[in-house]
Amino acid sequence: MDRIKKVDDEVYKILSEELKRQQENIILIASENYVSLAVLQTQGCIMTNKYAEGYSEERFYQGCKYYDEIELLAINRAKKLFGAEYVNVQPHSGSQANMAVYFAILNNNDKVLSMKLDHGGHLTHGLKQNFSGRYYRWAFYGVSKKTEMIDYDDVLKIASKFKPKLIVCGASSYPRIIDFEKFRKIADRCGALLMADIAHIAGLIVGGVHPDPVPYCDFVTTTTHKTLRGGRGAIIMCKKKYANLIDGAVFPGLQGGPLMHEIAARAVAFKEALTVAFKKYQQNIVKNSKVLANELLNNNIRLISGGTDNHLMLVDVLPLGLNGKKAAEILEEAGIIVNANQIPFDKLPPTLTSGIRIGTPALTTRGMGEKEMIDIANWISQLLRQPSNKKLQKAIKVKVNKLCARFPIYRNL
Ligand code: PLP
Repeated sequence: MDRIKKVDDEVYKILSEELKRQQENIILIASENYVSLAVLQTQGCIMTNKYAEGYSEERFYQGCKYYDEIELLAINRAKKLFGAEYVNVQPHSGSQANMAVYFAILNNNDKVLSMKLDHGGHLTHGLKQNFSGRYYRWAFYGVSKKTEMIDYDDVLKIASKFKPKLIVCGASSYPRIIDFEKFRKIADRCGALLMADIAHIAGLIVGGVHPDPVPYCDFVTTTTHKTLRGGRGAIIMCKKKYANLIDGAVFPGLQGGPLMHEIAARAVAFKEALTVAFKKYQQNIVKNSKVLANELLNNNIRLISGGTDNHLMLVDVLPLGLNGKKAAEILEEAGIIVNANQIPFDKLPPTLTSGIRIGTPALTTRGMGEKEMIDIANWISQLLRQPSNKKLQKAIKVKVNKLCARFPIYRNL
């Protein structure tokens, strides 16, 4: 960061502090990760200097030879990674990828069925204040009160009655396997198109530790920066017959010039994701998640659905006399970073919540394993059970810093 320091000392100072924060804290935000230095460097590359509106060999600007090459590389690697028929790598974010699918195939007021937000869904799956909730009509499925898992018979019932044009599956805070084959059957029964938003679990799918949606879905969207461990952005996969609709919805429908430096970084991340080491990494994420969950359960902490199949778990903090916001703040005092999250049938508003969401992708990238997960679960349990014990928070923070020092994030920035 020498050059940043020379030019802008204020920004340099803030970045240095943030580097320290990322190094010294236990990051358990399920949607976050640490990109490789190669991805990081590519994100800051010279391709930020150019406009490349359009697609390969159909650009609206001259001088795009290398931009075509990079974009094709990213597309071909993504196709190989997911076995998709067609891929658009230009969406700036997951929200825009979802918007592009809706924009491609829906008209205003068309009907869509998706998962309720407080049961695990995402803002772009029909929240009233979101563009999705404003332009389309939504019905929602959720998890069963008893199992806290998706009840596919119930989804079928709702779908048969509502007759949506599109069904959206995929979630932001669902700790269990999603059965895409069952969703396909439900979509076929009611004549709907099917979209999977795999933002959270894309890496797991690549690693073979979560079922694959691609054979079953008309559209699959994913962010690139969560378990997939690329820079911030998204891609859309679809059947070939929808290629033109999707491309047109992204550009010129919703975006102008693509962020070609980010697309170059996406190409690098996809190359990394094609390796055997990446598969192993994904297996380790799930292994760590299960160890952490089991140790929390051993400490009599209630987990939604009783555990996890994937990279995340949801803790119900109400039985501990806390709300999610308070619990997240207590953990942060000790250097453990999670987010407050609504849980199914939550009575508290999203600003407070009854739960916290915990995920293992970032710690697994740092190389932490079973032993570290057990320690972390025990620290979390102690902290949540003694919310006013400042001495304990300080003592655990020291342990957290020591642990983090053993697992450095970037050696040569
Ligand atoms: N879809 C799901 C399931 C997500 O969890 C998220 C982000 O958390 C998104 C879409 C949106 O991604 P972005 O924040 O890049 O717009």
